[in-house]
Amino acid sequence: MSAYRVLPILGQFAPPGAKPVRHQVPAALPQTPHALQSYYEALFRAYGPQHWWPGRTRFEVIVGAILTQNTSWTNVARAIRNLRRQKLLSPIAIERVSPARLARLIRSSGYFRQKARKLQAFVRFLRDAHQGSLTKMFRMPTAVLREQLLAVHGIGPETADSILLYAGKHPVFVVDAYTRRILERHHLAHGKQSYEEIRALFEQSLPLSAALFNEYHGLIVRTGKDFCRARAPLCESCALKPFLPPSPEAAP
Ligand code: SF4
Repeated sequence: MSAYRVLPILGQFAPPGAKPVRHQVPAALPQTPHALQSYYEALFRAYGPQHWWPGRTRFEVIVGAILTQNTSWTNVARAIRNLRRQKLLSPIAIERVSPARLARLIRSSGYFRQKARKLQAFVRFLRDAHQGSLTKMFRMPTAVLREQLLAVHGIGPETADSILLYAGKHPVFVVDAYTRRILERHHLAHGKQSYEEIRALFEQSLPLSAALFNEYHGLIVRTGKDFCRARAPLCESCALKPFLPPSPEAAP
């Protein structure tokens, strides 16, 4: 039985009065929409709300999204603590600080010189395109802002979508390595599928809701970190075990 009294079942994410929308689903994966809904409900029942992404302000979430590329969150958290201590967690402060000092402060996040350049590229974009205002930036239509973010130095699809979803509450699904690994192990995706194809799979299978996508991605991160490890996954204790397809060796 669930330890959580309030389960945000998928139906609750549909906007009031919304008519059901029928999306085209790739013919090769007919079971995916239903499966992705069932996975969400199983994960939420097992682990509850994840309160992901950690960050005190929208700008801090954006800094975290850029710094977390190719490193663990522990290393990012240390870099963010350094920036906070030095009162550098604002677009103006990041733009004014010298690249060398910025790189030193975020050293723990790895690739620190490149990441310092990326942070400064983002705040320059924010100033030039949106008068330095995150509120103005996030008022843009999702697709337009996504294109703008993807054009900023050092911002790829996962970072752009993390910024849109977690800092801006735009309904885009964030696909990370854990998402891909879980889908592949459950035969819902294969290695050649692009980031955009997997993102479309989620966005077309679920109600288009930032709250839902936020929670779902958090649950995937939890599953990936605690159970679906690259080596020796802990399937026996994982909430998605009932959905795991039988391995070919297990077949009679
Ligand atoms: S740990 Fe096993 S059951 Fe859980 S998501 Fe990974 S493959 Fe599936």
